[in-house]
Amino acid sequence: MSTPIISLENVSVTFQRGVLWRRQRVHAVVNVSLAVHEGEVVALVGESGCGKTTLGRVVVGLQAPTRGRVLYYGQDVRTLRGEAVYEYRRSVQIVHQDSYAALNPVRTVYQSLSAPFFRYRLVRRRAEAREKVAELLEMMGLTPAGDFIDKYPHQLSGGQRQRVVLARAVALRPRLIVADEPVSMVDVSLRLSILDLMRSLNERMGIAFLYITHDLATARYFVRTGRIAVMYLGQVVEMGNLQEVLTWPRHPYLQALLSAVPVPDPRRARHMKPLPLRSLDLPDPTHPPSGCRFHPRCPYAEAICGAEEPPLQTVADGHQVACHLVDKVPEWVLS
Ligand code: SF4
Repeated sequence: MSTPIISLENVSVTFQRGVLWRRQRVHAVVNVSLAVHEGEVVALVGESGCGKTTLGRVVVGLQAPTRGRVLYYGQDVRTLRGEAVYEYRRSVQIVHQDSYAALNPVRTVYQSLSAPFFRYRLVRRRAEAREKVAELLEMMGLTPAGDFIDKYPHQLSGGQRQRVVLARAVALRPRLIVADEPVSMVDVSLRLSILDLMRSLNERMGIAFLYITHDLATARYFVRTGRIAVMYLGQVVEMGNLQEVLTWPRHPYLQALLSAVPVPDPRRARHMKPLPLRSLDLPDPTHPPSGCRFHPRCPYAEAICGAEEPPLQTVADGHQVACHLVDKVPEWVLS
């Protein structure tokens, strides 16, 4: 396989919280290894506070890892200099959840979208920049471009604003976009159109996506034949091809997540029993449980689970699970 665009090697991120003698350490990301290849679509899934946004920020260079390495085409990003830094910054872009906060409220769409063209000297004159911005808007489905180009963010709907944010990420022809909950603040009726737009950017332009979400349904819709990595309390607990992982989930945490997803068919819903977790509360990340971090909630936990941290082990082609008792945990097949 080709060299990945980005690979994370044993990345950990720890934050300090509080003041002086009450200072606490929050282990937001713990020992995560993950790679994204050219043209690939990978979902990073987990509940709020599991560290997925922090990991996304590490990928684009907005957050330095406390331990571990981030490689861009095999080279440690801390060793990049000059033109190589520019290339990394241009090639790995991020789309944030809140499109309103992501756009400067006193700048028009033209001003926001033309800024990277001027910054990277891709255009010289205003007319040239307007032409490129109009092209971008048309590509994002904001047509006719003339109706949007001179508008301010507050004059656009949530869906239109998110398309402008996507246009800004695409402007410099990136290789990878980290999309951090890009549809969670968009009206439900418009979510699929944004996901379809991202899908077409992947197919037409070959842009890889790291899709960060808490929503398994949108991950399934967008990623299709790509991969999924499931995070729990800062760690990746299951990873592999999305279709396989969601059809035959092996980690009790993912089984619990899937069993809690409502099913529209009442006959099927009657046969589906939620996994009985021992606790519904997410542990405090400043004092994470010893051993397997899921053990205080896991219905299958045994003595070893609280004593030793389970490594990620391969259970099928490319399918990895971090669970000591993976061979004993009953199968939970999505019917
Ligand atoms: Fe549950 Fe033990 Fe597996 Fe952790 S290692 S998920 S506690 S069975």
